[in-house]
Amino acid sequence: MPQNQAKEILKQYFGYDEFRPMQAEIIQTVFDKKDCLVLMPTGGGKSITFQIPAMMKDGVTIVVSPLIALMKDQVESLKATGIAAEFLNSSLTPSQQEAIEKDIQEGKIKIIYISPERIVTESFHNFMQNLKVNLFAIDEAHCISQWGHDFRPEYTQLKFLKQKYPEIPVIALTATADKITARDIIKQLGLIEAKQFITSFDRPNISLTVKPALKRIENIIEFIKARPNQSGIVYCLSRKSTEDIASKLKRAGIKAAFYHAKLEREKRSKVQENFINDKTPVIVATIAFGMGIDKSNVRWVIHYNMPKNIENYYQEIGRAGRDGTKSDTIMYYSLGDVMTYRKFIEDAPNNKEVEIAKLQRIQDYAEALTCRRKILLSYFGEHLDEDCGNCDVCKNPPQQFDGTLIAQKALSAISRLNENVGINMLIDVLRGSGRKEIIDNNYHKIKTYGAGNDINFADWQQYILQLLNQGLIEIAYDQNHVLKLTEASQKVLFAGKKINLVKASELLKKKELQQITARPESKTKQLKNELFERLRNLREQIAVSENVPPHIIFSDATLESMCEKRPVSNKDLSKIAGVGILKNEKYGNLFIKEIVSFIKENSKQTSRIKGSSQILTYELFKDGMTVAEIADERNLSPVTIFSHLAEFYNKGEEIDIFRLVSQEEISRVEKAVKEINDFNTIKTIFEHLNSEIEYEKIRLALSYLKKK
Ligand code: ADP
Ligand code: ZN
Repeated sequence: MPQNQAKEILKQYFGYDEFRPMQAEIIQTVFDKKDCLVLMPTGGGKSITFQIPAMMKDGVTIVVSPLIALMKDQVESLKATGIAAEFLNSSLTPSQQEAIEKDIQEGKIKIIYISPERIVTESFHNFMQNLKVNLFAIDEAHCISQWGHDFRPEYTQLKFLKQKYPEIPVIALTATADKITARDIIKQLGLIEAKQFITSFDRPNISLTVKPALKRIENIIEFIKARPNQSGIVYCLSRKSTEDIASKLKRAGIKAAFYHAKLEREKRSKVQENFINDKTPVIVATIAFGMGIDKSNVRWVIHYNMPKNIENYYQEIGRAGRDGTKSDTIMYYSLGDVMTYRKFIEDAPNNKEVEIAKLQRIQDYAEALTCRRKILLSYFGEHLDEDCGNCDVCKNPPQQFDGTLIAQKALSAISRLNENVGINMLIDVLRGSGRKEIIDNNYHKIKTYGAGNDINFADWQQYILQLLNQGLIEIAYDQNHVLKLTEASQKVLFAGKKINLVKASELLKKKELQQITARPESKTKQLKNELFERLRNLREQIAVSENVPPHIIFSDATLESMCEKRPVSNKDLSKIAGVGILKNEKYGNLFIKEIVSFIKENSKQTSRIKGSSQILTYELFKDGMTVAEIADERNLSPVTIFSHLAEFYNKGEEIDIFRLVSQEEISRVEKAVKEINDFNTIKTIFEHLNSEIEYEKIRLALSYLKKK
């Protein structure tokens, strides 16, 4: 395939220099008219694997997508890069629809997004007869499989595509990591010898933290306040808690809204829209929120309650950081949540064992004392060689101690209580509580009564959880959650087996401390944040005037890169990832202007930052000042100013060179070069010209001549 052509499109439209892993291979496969299945995590970069082939081929690519909001976003994104795309779905008026169909027929459109309901209609078939369709892309392809988590009956009809148009290649894409679903997708769509592309499901830019569910609201408020204007989602279990938590956040001065399935339709889309447009940064929601939201700059996701399995958890945290920029996630974990889920599952009609096993796995994850990312990825069948360094366990490895005595006390008490009490009673007995139930049952007479009164209640809870996770205790969910001993616990009680535990209260203290003692930001970092805010505001203004979500203009990652590199010319800007040709033309100057005025206003502080001195010189020169004047103004030597400008000239920036060196001087240099011929060093030219033209000018003249 014309690999170069693919790369050119990547640069020209999307503004990226390199393909991510597998993108090039996928594009090649599609280009060769072969079917394929792509499994890539959210944010992995699936879209361009069909969008680029669409641009490389004659005719039109048809993309099936399940949600109107998603289609709209993708089409807007494409249009913003200069790619002719449209969607056909029920949100269009008949006349809009007609106009689009006309454009399609006239070959003006490269990519059409369409709903699964519509593509299977008779009328669309007839319409397709007159088109040259070069590719079908099935987005969110897991919707076709009953095994997937989001089965949509209307997707099952898509198998007709391959039956009716066997010669048109199909690319199916999904972010589902599950192998059974993958096989099913191929089967259901009837793909022919489909090549499978499975990339790593790791999302290294997303940090992972699990905390005990203590002081959640205070914690969350503090967390959000440390991240002003960043978008984030707080997930919780019930509709009521979304409302409660949102109002608590609002009272604390945070711009937040709640969202759940029972909200009226209009209200729901308003909330969603305000979130996408960065107007309401924080949404407190049930898990109904998120599907179909293609917002790239969600900077954090908090689970107020533990999700019921790892699939859900991974999908929900996956809504953070789609743009690849650093993002944070926190899950609050409590045994109470586990109990609630247990109850749901016990009451449900079927699939109990699987659900219980899945619940156990996420509980293990929450209680993990080793790298969390390793555990997550191993759940999806992937092995990570090194610890990730970006989860709370890696950042703050727990200290273990010999907890044999603690274990023995707890296990012995369970045994003496005839394996007939729950956690709270066990702890009360261990701590020697005098409550009535204990006396009534004569629990105060057993040998271990009060044997653990040196440990507080919360710590005991932590230790018992750890014993549970080590398989030393079981909970009889079918008998009022009483605690039972296991085979392994016998070894601790009778065979002197040693047990390691993690210090409970220390773990907590350390985590809290970490949160409170956030380091003060360095000056450079502050400046960077300031510039980021300015660029973000600018982006928002443009977004409002164009009536699109801000991330369509530029992603957060692109803005961050601008803050890092501070481009001050369209040429520099074109080197920033995410700035394609059209966006550079349309918005480039606005962003450059903002960056330049920032540099000017902060010239004192920014002077220490690499490259900013040159930029200032360049700007003053563009404002019409002479070299001498700039040197004076900036308190630098003219030679330095000259070298700054020469640097820009050599980089290819637009500089009126004749303001620096005259036509006549250039001619003299040209002549000298010819006369000396062999010794074209600046020094020889300088001497040949009787030292009448300065070094800097000769150097510039040479650059000019070379360019000519
Ligand atoms: P997915 O559909 O897999 O969730 P997207 O296609 O929306 O992911 O891509 C996620 C982000 O990654 C987008 O902002 C996209 O522009 C960006 N991206 C895609 N490919 C590349 C690349 N080769 N280099 C840099 N960024 C890329
Ligand atoms: Zn880790």
